[in-house]
Amino acid sequence: MNMQATTDNLKALDQAHHFHPFTDFHDYAERGGRVFSRAEHIYIYTSDGHRMLDGMSGLWCCNLGYSQQGIVDAVTAQLQNLPYYNNFFQCSNQPAIELARALVEVTEERFNHVFFTNSGSEANDTNLRLVNRYYQLQGRPEKKLIISRNNAYHGSTIAAASLGGMKGMHEQTNGLDYVHHIDQPHWFEVAGLDETPDDFGRRVARQLEEKIDELGEANVAAFIAEPVQGAGGVIIPPDTYWPEIQRICDERDILLIADEVICGFGRTGSWFGSQTFGIRPDLMTFAKAVTNGYQPLGGVMISDKVADVLLASPGEFTHGLTYSGHPTAAAAGLATLKVLRETDIISSAAANLAPHLQSRLRELEDHPIVGQVRGRGMFAAVELVRDKSSRERLADKSAAAVFCRNTANELGLMVRQTGDAMIMAPPLVSSVAELDDLVEMLHKALDLTAKQFGA
Ligand code: PMP
Repeated sequence: MNMQATTDNLKALDQAHHFHPFTDFHDYAERGGRVFSRAEHIYIYTSDGHRMLDGMSGLWCCNLGYSQQGIVDAVTAQLQNLPYYNNFFQCSNQPAIELARALVEVTEERFNHVFFTNSGSEANDTNLRLVNRYYQLQGRPEKKLIISRNNAYHGSTIAAASLGGMKGMHEQTNGLDYVHHIDQPHWFEVAGLDETPDDFGRRVARQLEEKIDELGEANVAAFIAEPVQGAGGVIIPPDTYWPEIQRICDERDILLIADEVICGFGRTGSWFGSQTFGIRPDLMTFAKAVTNGYQPLGGVMISDKVADVLLASPGEFTHGLTYSGHPTAAAAGLATLKVLRETDIISSAAANLAPHLQSRLRELEDHPIVGQVRGRGMFAAVELVRDKSSRERLADKSAAAVFCRNTANELGLMVRQTGDAMIMAPPLVSSVAELDDLVEMLHKALDLTAKQFGA
């Protein structure tokens, strides 16, 4: 069968039988999508031979790109030795043990324990279980309310969707009633036109204090947030935001949970977003880039403050997953951390690639339909507008951004659209020339979008 016939056949089967995540089933059954069949370095290839520069690192996970033979070898060797065994009933395995140790070594000193899951969503569920147990063991079971933020993304299990602040997800989730939301630190979207980013940052951070007072400090367990909201639109908080949040968490008796599922492992210029923004979380969610996306793995780093309470009292922690600490996933994690620790990929991306990417993207601020470019490290968003000063959008229902994303895809660039923003997170192993290609393709897509929408 030729490539086109194979592709057509696969697409037909896909449309007939496969419900995709975060997809309009009706639309997909009619129009279908594209089938990927291979990847190399930072390029992904469809089964009919279309090459795309992956400006999203998969789904924010392949920070080291697609050609990491060391991870492949580690996974292969592990599958041959011990493909699976569980970590229940006083059992363990070498890769899980070594990965736990390696994670303790690459995170801040106060993190000395880890709980493994398969995904970021499950890791955030685990956070809720840990937080509950932490307060129960201290005889404070009433401390169970969680504060999160509008438009946050913390995953898609019932608990994680409740923790998140995505309206569309809440509408389809019979969610938890103990999660409360405050505003997101999204200056371009939420601030008044005459409010400076710094004033806005302080104002929205103080909503945490107001919410704690409203709910009663004795009832509030934790605040959860991504250092930079990723899926929400790569929302870089104003400089005043995190210091104020940290002050509030220090003064109030609540735990701080940093969801590092996207920010972790180099995305924002440091190993973790918490370091970039100078925050000291008590619990830290990770997933995605911990295995470079090669195996499903997530987890929670648990600080001594929480771990000491959990360790001090007897009694079972009644939570776990068949694949918690899966040896093959852990082997992928270990091999990924080995690359990150033994090369200068994180520091060199921060010192060389990120400044280049950010300054090249800032040039797009002169483009007639660009209202804002924001970013940090290898992480950026470009907001589309019709009118720069009023921030009026180009079209209803983000139609212009959808068009721009589709156009970029056709030109050979994989970027994503969130609301009216184009968002991107290229691999940390990209070259300067490849980042230039990314910006040029995006520029072309913006030109064609401006033309299409008469701007
Ligand atoms: N938290 C954040 C910040 C995320 O971006 C994601 C996934 N995009 C998750 C949690 C959920 O991770 P998973 O899809 O692995 O469940």
